[in-house]
Amino acid sequence: TNPAPLLSVNNIEVVYDDVILVLRGVSIEVPQGQIVTLLGPNGAGKSTTLKAISGLLKTEDGEVTRGEIQFMGERIDRKNAEDIVRSGIFQVMEGRRIIEDMTCIENLRLGAFTRRDRQVQQDIEMVFDYFPRLKERTGLAGYLSGGEQQMLAIGRALMARPKMILLDEPSMGLSPLLVKEVFGIIEKINREQGITMLLVEQNANFALRAADYGYIMESGKVVLDGSSQDLLQNEDVKQFYLGGG
Ligand code: ATP
Repeated sequence: TNPAPLLSVNNIEVVYDDVILVLRGVSIEVPQGQIVTLLGPNGAGKSTTLKAISGLLKTEDGEVTRGEIQFMGERIDRKNAEDIVRSGIFQVMEGRRIIEDMTCIENLRLGAFTRRDRQVQQDIEMVFDYFPRLKERTGLAGYLSGGEQQMLAIGRALMARPKMILLDEPSMGLSPLLVKEVFGIIEKINREQGITMLLVEQNANFALRAADYGYIMESGKVVLDGSSQDLLQNEDVKQFYLGGG
């Protein structure tokens, strides 16, 4: 028998501004230690799904109106975003959202805001081990390249010592070479730190190569799911998401 998944999203419905129905019964499971990816076209509801999990939906007038979300056996869909971070889920937002007029180290310290232990300095060194080039950038984060800002955003998530990281389009705006580098580091962090990852991507090729399992969303529903290997072989996936039939 399979153990209960770390995260399970059970048939959730999400509404924005009390009227706009955006998720129409979405169910997703993320097993402990795995990388799971959510794929699909613009507007399918991928970011909305992540925000429903992290509690950030509420800051955009969105609400889970049906279904429930469980993390480590506990219901989290009624919790606020800060309590969800404390329970071990950290979201790396789309577009990176680092603080531009702070240094890398100051940004990293922000990621540790829920922690009381004294190992913060040690973890900054761990982040620099994963992203050596951040260590060389001592100026303000606003001067970092797009790739470096993405790395800093992931590093900031690590500082929270999360059990699970939600990543919203880490490849956005990056050159193919950098996408490869960032995905390599995401896999390394998953492997070495055992941090479970839920990854939203437009770049299905990279995402499925990194992930164990994938879900494809269209118009607020999951239309297909399977192991990454199966999805990479699937004719529809090949035609519509992997660029070429
Ligand atoms: P993208 O890659 O474009 O972000 P997505 O699959 O992540 O696509 P969402 O961002 O979740 O899709 O958006 C799903 C739908 O919800 C879209 O129709 C979008 O216009 C709508 N939507 C998103 N955010 C809001 C909001 N704050 N208020 C109202 N509608 C929203």
